[in-house]
Amino acid sequence: MLNFDFHNPTHIAFGKGRIADLAKLVPAQARVLILVGGSSAEKTGTLGEVRAALGERHHATFSGIEPNPSYETSMKAVEQAREGGFDFLLAVGGGSVIDAAKFIAAAVRFEGDPWSILLKRGRNITAALPFGAVLTLPATGSEMNNGSVITHRGQGAKLAFSSVHCYPRFSVLDPTKTYTLPPQQLANGVVDAFVHTVEQYLTYPVDARVQDRFAEGILQTLIEVGPRLLTAPEPVYDDRANLMWAATMALNGLIGAGVPQDWSTHMIGHELTAAHGIDHARTLAIVLPAMLHERRAQKKDKLLQYGERVWGITQGSEDERITAAIERTRDFFERMGVPTRLSGYGLGADAVGPLVAQLEAHGMVQLSEHRDVTPEVSRRVLEAAL
Ligand code: NAP
Ligand code: FE
Repeated sequence: MLNFDFHNPTHIAFGKGRIADLAKLVPAQARVLILVGGSSAEKTGTLGEVRAALGERHHATFSGIEPNPSYETSMKAVEQAREGGFDFLLAVGGGSVIDAAKFIAAAVRFEGDPWSILLKRGRNITAALPFGAVLTLPATGSEMNNGSVITHRGQGAKLAFSSVHCYPRFSVLDPTKTYTLPPQQLANGVVDAFVHTVEQYLTYPVDARVQDRFAEGILQTLIEVGPRLLTAPEPVYDDRANLMWAATMALNGLIGAGVPQDWSTHMIGHELTAAHGIDHARTLAIVLPAMLHERRAQKKDKLLQYGERVWGITQGSEDERITAAIERTRDFFERMGVPTRLSGYGLGADAVGPLVAQLEAHGMVQLSEHRDVTPEVSRRVLEAAL
C-alpha cells in the first residue's frame, strides 16, 4: 500500500426528510446564497423545502448553472455573492451545481484572475467561502470531495481543480429527491460512479485489500441496482438509497487512499464533452472499454481479479478472461442505455485528430497511474472507440 493521508470533513445527513436539518446545519447568522441549475429544483419543490428550512436567515437564489458548469456563469454568481455580502453558499442540485459552488466559493475569496485557479488545478487557492449541498442527482461524488470541473465556454476548455478548502461543510442526501430524475440521468449516475470506482481500483496492483473489496462492493451494488432503476414501474426507496451512497463512496477518498489512481478515461472524456457537448458519463462509457483493451498488459493482474470477483469469470485463458471482463463492462453500460462507441453519438474518424490536439493543448500528455498514456496512446484509444 502507498503512503496516504485520509481526512474527509464533510458531514453527511442521509435519508428521507433530511432537508429540514438545514435549520441546524447552516450557521444561524449566515447570509446564504442558494445556487441552483435550470428549473428542476424549483419544479420538484426541493427549492421550496430548502427555503423553508432556512427560516429567518437572509437568503437569495442564483439560478442558471448549466450542466458542465461554465466559468462565465459561475463568475456571475461570484459577482452576486460579493455584491450581496453573502458568506455561505448552498448548492441545490447535481454535480454541476456542487462543482460550480466549489469554484464560486474559492473565486469569491481569490485575488487575481480566477481562471488561474483552473490553470493551476487549485494549488493557488488559499481560502474559500463555506458551503453546503443538497444533492439531487447521485453520480459524481462531488457532495463529499474537494474536486470540481469547470468549463470555459469561450476557450472550449473543461478543466478540473481541487483544494483542501473546497470540501462541502455538509451534504444532505435524501434518496427520495432522485425520484424525479429522467432515466438518462439515472443511467449517467450509475456509469459515472462505476467509472470513478474503476479508475481507482483497476490500476497497477498494490496490496490494498480493504480498498479493493470496498471498490468491488460498490461495483457489484451498481451492477445489481442499476438496471432495476430503469425498469421499476415506481421508484424503490432502497434502490435509490443504495445508488446514492454507492456514488458518494465511489469518490470520497476512501477507496482511493493508498492506491495508484488512473483518471485517463476522465481526462479524455472531459475533452469529448468540451468539444461535442456529450454528457460526462457518456463520454466515460465511450473511452473506458477501449482504454482497458489498450492497457490490458499493464493492468493484467487487476483485470483478472476484476473479472473473477466482480463478474464471476473463471473459465478460459488469461487473455480470454480479460476480454470477457472488459466486454461485460461494455455490455453493462449498453444495458443502462448508454452507447459505448463514438459512432453512437454521430462522431467518426475525423473527430479523433482534433480531440488529441485538445489533449495536448491542455497538457494532458502523460495520463494514467503510470503517466504512460501519451497523446499517441489516447489517439489509439479514441480510434478503437469509433
Ligand atoms: P448535472 O449536470 O448536475 O445535472 C444534469 C441534469 O439533471 C440537469 O439538467 C439537471 O436539471 C437535472 N437534474 C438534477 N437533479 C434532478 C432531479 N432531482 N430531478 C430532475 N432533474 C434533475 O449532472 P451530474 O452528472 O451530477 O454532474 C455532471 C458534472 O459533474 C460534469 O460537469 C462532470 O464533469 C462533473 N463531475 C464532477 C466530479 C467531482 O468529483 N467533482 C466527478 C465527476 C464528474 P436542472 O439544471 O434543471 O437542475
Ligand atoms: Fe466523473
